[in-house]
Amino acid sequence: MSKPYDVIVVGIGGMGSASVYELARRGKRVLGLERYDIGHAMGSSHGETRMIRLAYFEGQSYVPMVLRAHQLWKEWGARFNTSLLEVTGTLDIIEPGLDIIERGEQACKTYDLPYELLDAAAIMNRHPAFVLPKDYRGLFQPDGGYVMSERAIMTTTAAAIDLGAEIHPRERVLDLAPTAWGGVRVTTDLGTYEAGSAILSPGPWITKFVPSLAGVAQPYRQVFGWFRPLKPELFARGAFPSFTLKIPEGHYYGFPLYGHPGLKVGGPHHGREACDPDTLIRDNRPKDEEGMRACLSRYLPAAMGPALAIKVCIYTMTPDEDFIIDRLPGMPQVVVASPCSGHGFKFASVMGEILSDLATNNTPPYDLSPFRMDRFNGSPLSSASL
Ligand SMILES: Cc1cc2nc3c(=O)[nH]c(=O)nc-3n(C[C@H](O)[C@H](O)[C@H](O)COP(=O)(O)OP(=O)(O)OC[C@H]3O[C@@H](n4cnc5c(N)ncnc54)[C@H](O)[C@@H]3O)c2cc1C
Repeated sequence: MSKPYDVIVVGIGGMGSASVYELARRGKRVLGLERYDIGHAMGSSHGETRMIRLAYFEGQSYVPMVLRAHQLWKEWGARFNTSLLEVTGTLDIIEPGLDIIERGEQACKTYDLPYELLDAAAIMNRHPAFVLPKDYRGLFQPDGGYVMSERAIMTTTAAAIDLGAEIHPRERVLDLAPTAWGGVRVTTDLGTYEAGSAILSPGPWITKFVPSLAGVAQPYRQVFGWFRPLKPELFARGAFPSFTLKIPEGHYYGFPLYGHPGLKVGGPHHGREACDPDTLIRDNRPKDEEGMRACLSRYLPAAMGPALAIKVCIYTMTPDEDFIIDRLPGMPQVVVASPCSGHGFKFASVMGEILSDLATNNTPPYDLSPFRMDRFNGSPLSSASL
């Protein structure tokens, strides 16, 4: 048995990499355990980019956290001499009958964020790539954009190692158990380690550790692709924003051209194909491309060039689509970070702070009550075991 650590982080993806960095920055003895390589494509964080929106229609509780996350991505980019956040503006476009614009507008008003409401004609005038029915509406928020997700994982993990963190890639965690002295014992396929506390951030594998979350944290297969536009100039930065599109065909999103020869588009988001991350079909299938072309052909026809790449990824959704950030019932020295219902990466930087606070008995400066596990039936949840 090695010397005890202050904190062991299980899973070095989006949440785990930010946590090991933040803990090491605070001078903690930290061990990060990752079953695959650092920067792999088996979980929820690959595919280069993730959107960051500040007009957060998912709920007001998220806005203080996303504002801090936005600030941290900027600071970390400057600190690591790279860019982790690209500000392009975000445009949320919806079909009639949904209140997403109103909820986004409320978030902007409450937190004094700049925004514009646009009708379909104004959107198409400003961004000629879009072809929209005339009763569609949009909310533009100029501070949003995208986070370089894979670069963020690589950069923060490297910084954590440089600050003294131990990172073990290709080491699979099998079990977490309490120690007699109030800490946590983590057993892997290669060894056993002890720490005062642990952060459990295994992304879509969460139910393998917390079986009673089965049916509550459900992984879904998702796809995204890069399409070479027929008219690339319409999708250049400045001419085209990062966007979400809620339309009858589903929920789609995408980014302006950012160096990749293709336009990145994902969706239909929330297409519900439940999966197990250990048996997921990771090869793409014809219907994956068809699903994305269903959006492009009608709403972004100038993007309908060849598909240069299509990738499979995993969302892990809760019934209310909110996060889980909590202590493990029966083992409060283990902090659980959920994979965040398909909208979590933008928060990874602030989650590093929040999870580090919780793991070291500090109180994070946010209302985390909407993210407690006991909101699901109040049923007691079992302790971790794989
Ligand atoms: C297609 C797609 C598009 C998305 N778009 C957006 C977006 O635009 N904006 C946004 O904010 N969010 C978005 N999300 C959501 C966001 O990407 C996720 O919320 C986030 O990546 C989750 O990070 P994580 O650290 O929880 O999971 P991961 O990054 O998957 O990390 C979990 C890690 O735990 C490791 N692990 C698991 N089990 C073990 C074990 N037994 N032992 C050791 N290690 C283990 C895994 O290998 C993995 O590295 C999107 C997700 C997908 C799939």
